[in-house]
Amino acid sequence: MKKICILGGGESGVGAAILAQEKGFEVFLSDKGTIKDNYKEELEKHQIEYEEGQHDIERILSADEVIKSPGIPDKVSLIQKLRNNGISVIGEIEFAHRYTDAKIIAITGSNGKTTTTSLIYHLLKTANLNVGLGGNIGFSFARQVAQEDFDLYVLEVSSFQLDSIQNFKPDIAILLNITPDHLDRYDYKMENYIASKFRITKNQEKEDSFIYNQEDDNIKKFLSEKDINAKHYKIETTQYIKDHSFNWEKCSIKGKHNRFNAECAIQAAKIIGLDKDVIQKGLETFESIPHRLEKVAEIEGIEYINDSKATNVDAVFYALDAMTKNTIWIVGGTDKGNDYSPLIPLVQEKVKAIVCLGLDNHKILEAFDHFNIKIIETKSAAAAVTQSSKLAESGDVVLLSPACASFDLFKNYIDRGNQFKKAVNSIKPII
Ligand code: ADP
Repeated sequence: MKKICILGGGESGVGAAILAQEKGFEVFLSDKGTIKDNYKEELEKHQIEYEEGQHDIERILSADEVIKSPGIPDKVSLIQKLRNNGISVIGEIEFAHRYTDAKIIAITGSNGKTTTTSLIYHLLKTANLNVGLGGNIGFSFARQVAQEDFDLYVLEVSSFQLDSIQNFKPDIAILLNITPDHLDRYDYKMENYIASKFRITKNQEKEDSFIYNQEDDNIKKFLSEKDINAKHYKIETTQYIKDHSFNWEKCSIKGKHNRFNAECAIQAAKIIGLDKDVIQKGLETFESIPHRLEKVAEIEGIEYINDSKATNVDAVFYALDAMTKNTIWIVGGTDKGNDYSPLIPLVQEKVKAIVCLGLDNHKILEAFDHFNIKIIETKSAAAAVTQSSKLAESGDVVLLSPACASFDLFKNYIDRGNQFKKAVNSIKPII
């Protein structure tokens, strides 16, 4: 019996373990950290062997193939060892893809993946198609291939997931944008990150489709140097201005960036064969998703917006761009090699005060110190909200849009957003 070892016991690892077992492999799952109780229960229920808090290197090296979590960088010694021993190391997306004939729409980009993926899924559901939603969102692709029988999948794929594909081939690939992010995983070289994103097109053939942002310089440059087999569909970031086929007034999709995401989603829906009326209905019934420019409350004339998912500079650029009021900007966290300079004009124009929310704020202080903008430092969501509400006046907006990962002070961006919302909702209006 062929042996499969899975590294990482999160949603993708457990999904891959279930699928591998169903396909008749001998499965062993290893996680150096702790595995959540619900996942342990599931592994036990399926009688899948696992370990946590350690890696049994010898056992792992005896596998025929290894499926690794996207969170594990290629550079770690275990992965290097596996590769040196000639053992194939793939990701869960690649593995799941081997066992389905369903059509695949895959979405990548530095920003807008979840929004665009959710919208496409919603449009296809509106058309009553038998469609699954997965990848980096919701249930893993592998779990669904094992347990469901969908005709079509809409998958959000990150660059880390793309790094570990071999034959994965989407029928429709979408590349939304490429702006600096996760450079720590790419030797701080932008070209490596760009190449990683373009892997989404790597196995595409002439009859497949590639939808991309026509104005993105990194995408344009790559396309001028390399050939992509798939049929090209170029989308302009301002396409929605010319697009009179849909009634946008009735939709909750707001902000330039979300309108662009929607144009990409519409193009994918058209390729699948949806007609205009269904698309319009889907656009109208799509509800915006939490932690992305999410309006939390308006208290004493001050609006509070949770954009905790803005974990890089480009996402913050669009958030600040969408602000129409004086802004108290809450920013900071784990810096991923940020260059804050593209934000300077918007900060000068709109930001009244900066509230840092992070353990180490020196890069933010350095970037914005000399603009005569008040900057204060806080170390909890509650303190950031208290300070912001003191700095704000009626008519202002308090925007949490951190440009950084959250791991210094929070479990993840959801925890950060939820703590922010909780703090906002506990502000007592002065009576
Ligand atoms: P991802 O899944 O790629 O992280 P999300 O849809 O979760 O993307 O959005 C992440 C952040 O990026 C949010 O702050 C959102 O407002 C912003 N954003 C969404 N779409 C775009 C876009 N096309 N360009 C730039 N920023 C965007």
